Amino acid sequence: MEPLIICPKCHNKKEIRHLLTAQSNQNIIYECPDCAFILRNIETKKG
Ligand SMILES: [Zn+2]
Repeated sequence: MEPLIICPKCHNKKEIRHLLTAQSNQNIIYECPDCAFILRNIETKKG
């Protein structure tokens, strides 16, 4: 299964890998395509 993220604003579920932007400083940003809510510093399980 693809990991899903639930937008805290509009509560739509999206596949995380299509929506995340990894920046050079390793911050990860999720931008919801439905409501344009931006969520920063998402925790990831990778070492
Ligand atoms: Zn949203």
